[in-house]
Amino acid sequence: MSDSVMYGDFGPIGEVAVEHKPNEQKAWCCPQCLRVFHNEGSGDAHHVLCQDQLPGIVVYRDVCRSINIHMISGKSNEEFVSRLCSLALREMPSKMENAHLENYEFYVCSVGKDFLERNCHTSADNRESSMAVCAFFSRDRTREEHNLSAIVTFRPFRSLGFGFLLVDFSYLLSMERIRSRSVFRALRDIDVLYPGPEFPLSSAGQRLYDRYWDYAVSKTMISTLIDQRKPTLCVKEISCLTGIDYFVVLDIFRRLAARSGMDASWVDERNVYRDEEIFQGHSHGGVDDSPNDVLLMKKSRKAFCSVNVVMEILLQLNLETIPMDRANVIRENLEYVMSYSDD
Ligand SMILES: [Zn+2]
Repeated sequence: MSDSVMYGDFGPIGEVAVEHKPNEQKAWCCPQCLRVFHNEGSGDAHHVLCQDQLPGIVVYRDVCRSINIHMISGKSNEEFVSRLCSLALREMPSKMENAHLENYEFYVCSVGKDFLERNCHTSADNRESSMAVCAFFSRDRTREEHNLSAIVTFRPFRSLGFGFLLVDFSYLLSMERIRSRSVFRALRDIDVLYPGPEFPLSSAGQRLYDRYWDYAVSKTMISTLIDQRKPTLCVKEISCLTGIDYFVVLDIFRRLAARSGMDASWVDERNVYRDEEIFQGHSHGGVDDSPNDVLLMKKSRKAFCSVNVVMEILLQLNLETIPMDRANVIRENLEYVMSYSDD
């Protein structure tokens, strides 16, 4: 294995050594087809002419931002996913293995020329066709309790929101799978098993999921209790609306309460109530005018969390993520992927 790999013109991938070794072996990878070359000249010459398209089925297409997600089966595209996993090994050595690729499907996010020119300070003018694979997640088809096995964003594309987009997509897929099955295995006395990521998560993975879970639960609380003015919302309903596991939602409640400086010890599976007295008289969307708003347990009169904390989480996350627009999901291809997954 070479000491380092340059990912096209975008910079190195994997862990970058602080000191350069005198005889450092540098390889060059085509960000379009993921073939690796052992000298930059031949790699660059290849990339100028490379017209490879991603294999698999496109399931998400955002034309405005030039972002696509393809579902690529490990069984039918062994050569491509082997290249993908070899590169991912450099980013995430503990998690990625090349074994049993046929059991996995890969959701691969790529960006086109417009995105690259806007965000990556690169000129793609001399390329035949410019596209770069930037991130992906894998799912083990033999383990229905998980909706994501490993998630990798290649180093040059980190901090652009792709991890968030892919986690959101993994939950959309598991919700679709649940809907497409009439009977789903019951677990822990709760009607539906909501799949989640494989544990343990890396520290970066944990941070990503904490951000995503806070966002998804906060957004659901605001849209249900405030925008739709429903009087109550329980943990089970939030699970149902977000696809996030029941016990994860309970943990998020405790975390939101702690962030609001309130006692989280009482948080359990009971309903969260919108406090009618506090919300009375507020116009739709007028939360900003009342800095002390809290969502309360009406019966016990214990504070749950500040609406402002929830709004703050949403505002912060909206600034640093690529929100998934469900209108960009290609429904007919997704349905095909669902039936394929049930083989
Ligand atoms: Zn290529």
